[in-house]
Amino acid sequence: MDESMIAEWTERLHRAGLRLTAATRSVLTLFASDPGWGPSHAEVLDRLHRDGVEINRVTLYRLLDRLAACGLLERHADAAGRVWRFSWVGGQSAGALTPRFECDACHRLVALEPAQAQAHQIAQTLQDALAAMGHHAERLDLTIHGTCAGCTPPPP
Ligand SMILES: [Zn+2]
Repeated sequence: MDESMIAEWTERLHRAGLRLTAATRSVLTLFASDPGWGPSHAEVLDRLHRDGVEINRVTLYRLLDRLAACGLLERHADAAGRVWRFSWVGGQSAGALTPRFECDACHRLVALEPAQAQAHQIAQTLQDALAAMGHHAERLDLTIHGTCAGCTPPPP
């Protein structure tokens, strides 16, 4: 990880009253190096243990929640609504809408960059509509669910 990235993480964590501990750094590095990764808490724990990082289940659970609260990770329920999954938000600016696709079979997240410009317009339209109703939009999230190319069985 390059130093400017570490500095930005430290700054964000600091604003949320957190410190960049060794465990936090390991978790952020995992997510930042694989932005399409959308693991559950158990999968992150597994991965950290395989990498030799000492962290217990409860500590990691709290850490993931805090990282989601300070906007470095995003937390969302899986399709069945039974498991929380986490994904990398990193340096993305607030108010930006990145439409993405989530495979319900393997839980990969794919950013839909070609649709970014149109998504921005949609976001604006939705925010304007809310503002006209007197509501204040804070965060917008557009996820399309389905089965990815890697998980779709080839046609017969
Ligand atoms: Zn898949």
